[in-house]
Amino acid sequence: MASIEMKHIVKQYGDGYPAVNDVSLDIADGEFMILVGPSGCGKSTLLRMIVGLEDITSGDMIIGGKRVNDLAPRERNLSMVFQNYALYPHMTVFENIAFPLRLSKTPDDEVRRRVNEASDVLELKEHLERKPANLSGGQRQRVAMGRAIVRQAEAFLFDEPLSNLDAKLRGQMRTEISRLQRRLGITTVYVTHDQTEAMTLGDRVCVLRKGKIQQVASPRELYEQP
Ligand code: ADP
Ligand code: ADP
Repeated sequence: MASIEMKHIVKQYGDGYPAVNDVSLDIADGEFMILVGPSGCGKSTLLRMIVGLEDITSGDMIIGGKRVNDLAPRERNLSMVFQNYALYPHMTVFENIAFPLRLSKTPDDEVRRRVNEASDVLELKEHLERKPANLSGGQRQRVAMGRAIVRQAEAFLFDEPLSNLDAKLRGQMRTEISRLQRRLGITTVYVTHDQTEAMTLGDRVCVLRKGKIQQVASPRELYEQP
């Protein structure tokens, strides 16, 4: 687990208006932070700079007390959960969850132990031999989160993970993500443009507009605002 500190982060693509324009934000260890705002306000760009998929034009990104501006994604030990889950269709649930451990050449018995532990928390134990095509949307989401858990990542990063789901499943998954985050106590940054997600999931909500922070507040403070 780790805190995430952003200090005067700027992202300039080409010579237009900066996509992210002097963003400073501290996310505490174990905190669930929502990034919300209209399309094009810089949410994904900010998230990708945290993970390391996008270079930072200026400012400092500090994760777990360490400046990571120049670290590649795999050196940051964060885990991004994508909208489409990025599961491998030909692999079983077990192998999908184990994938990051295979990449790092973790010994077999250790892989089994960690996948079992994760699938316990995620209630995927009965589904380990199935393929993603035979899972529900919610189960696929949990497999994607399982990958993050086995890696013992320092933080979860979500980029609109529920936007492809129907309303009912979205509701279920909201509950599930919230429950898991609290159970694991893992620092989480969650991008959405959905008001309900923003108001129900996070400890705090950061509202972005045109690359700048407009407001950072708890859902309650936002709700009670005139
Ligand atoms: P959001 O996630 O809030 O929809 P983005 O971070 O995707 O916003 O985009 C912020 C701004 O940066 C937008 O104006 C977008 O067009 C621009 N942008 C995003 N990615 C790129 C890129 N790779 N090259 C140029 N401009 C980009
Ligand atoms: P999202 O809505 O999920 O942010 P987008 O459609 O905005 O997705 O962006 C998809 C991809 O296109 C991203 O990799 C982003 O960096 C890139 N992109 C977005 N806007 C631009 C742009 N103006 N110029 C070049 N690439 C862009």
